[in-house]
Amino acid sequence: MDQSDTLEQAAQFARQALNLMEERAIAATPDNFTIWYLYYAGREPKMNQALDALLQGDAAISEERCAEIHREFLSGQDVSAVVHEAATVIKQELNEILKRLGTAGDDAAQYGRTLDTFAEQVAGADDGEALGTVLSDIVTATRAMERQNNDLEQQLATSSSEISSLREDLEDVRREAITDAMTGIFNRRFFDIRLREEATAAEENGRDLCLLMIDIDNFKNFNDTFGHLIGDLILKLLANMLTDTIKGRDTASRYGGEEFAVILPETSLQNAFKVAETIQNRIKEKELKNRSTGENMGRVTVSIGVGCYLPGEDLSDFIARADKALYTAKHAGRDRVVTERLTTDTKKAAKT
Ligand code: GH3
Ligand code: MG
Ligand code: MG
Repeated sequence: MDQSDTLEQAAQFARQALNLMEERAIAATPDNFTIWYLYYAGREPKMNQALDALLQGDAAISEERCAEIHREFLSGQDVSAVVHEAATVIKQELNEILKRLGTAGDDAAQYGRTLDTFAEQVAGADDGEALGTVLSDIVTATRAMERQNNDLEQQLATSSSEISSLREDLEDVRREAITDAMTGIFNRRFFDIRLREEATAAEENGRDLCLLMIDIDNFKNFNDTFGHLIGDLILKLLANMLTDTIKGRDTASRYGGEEFAVILPETSLQNAFKVAETIQNRIKEKELKNRSTGENMGRVTVSIGVGCYLPGEDLSDFIARADKALYTAKHAGRDRVVTERLTTDTKKAAKT
């Protein structure tokens, strides 16, 4: 085998050589193998010409003719090296296959062979004692097989637990990628994904899809008065409250800073307005108290803009309309819910 042959090529040449030798009833000697291996590798053009001439006839290829060819073309070659290398390749292939078959097959085959032997012994046992010995050997072999099966089961259980722990790790990574670290609710990335999915669903099922944009009022003042850390707690409080308020396929997420977004699939503008009012009332109901100092921090309020998806429109337009309603709520004095106002023109434009 030449160093330039890849393992795959070498295995192929070896297989071809063995097939041909079997087909043409050529004795499987190392010398003959070398001839035909090199024939398929195409490394000795002159020898190939001679072999092609031989192959053309239907007659058996005699041992003498092979020996002549070997003398004529390959007498200087290191035959044992060629055979050795080819054998290595074949062994490697076999090992691969055995590995794939796994230990289970090996163990079962061994057990089968052992039982065969016992069957012969049972047939040949001429007295009760001999039979008893054979039977006890059978029990021993069966127990050994059981143990091997248990080991195999154990191995499979270990592998499968490794796989599930990998899967859990992946799930953790996936969850982290769509979660806002501070509040624990979905992040903006997930909001974008889910909004796209729900817009597609709304186009298919023809149901209304609404969006709430929620912004904490005067939050800068709150932070300035009570500190950023307390501000963070308020963000968490609002996030939890949103999660508790929504249901089913609704999605609450932190849109950024002190702004949150809630996607409400299969919900009319009227019902989305009601959900928004519930949120607005629940947050201002809470009397905020600093637990460590006992200081009363008053209440926080939110302003909410509500938008309804127009099938086919750009999602950025949809978000912009809910944002515009939020802006109107801020300008109208905050702590309120405002729904978008659609003109007949925008409705028509979106439907065409
Ligand atoms: P408006 O009613 O108009 O919304 O007033 P506002 O003060 O809430 O709005 P502005 O945009 O002026 O300020 C937003 C504030 O939100 C300022 C910023 O410090 C605060 N904020 C944004 N993200 C966080 C955060 O992660 N933690 C805390 N504690 N504060 C945040
Ligand atoms: Mg704000
Ligand atoms: Mg804001």
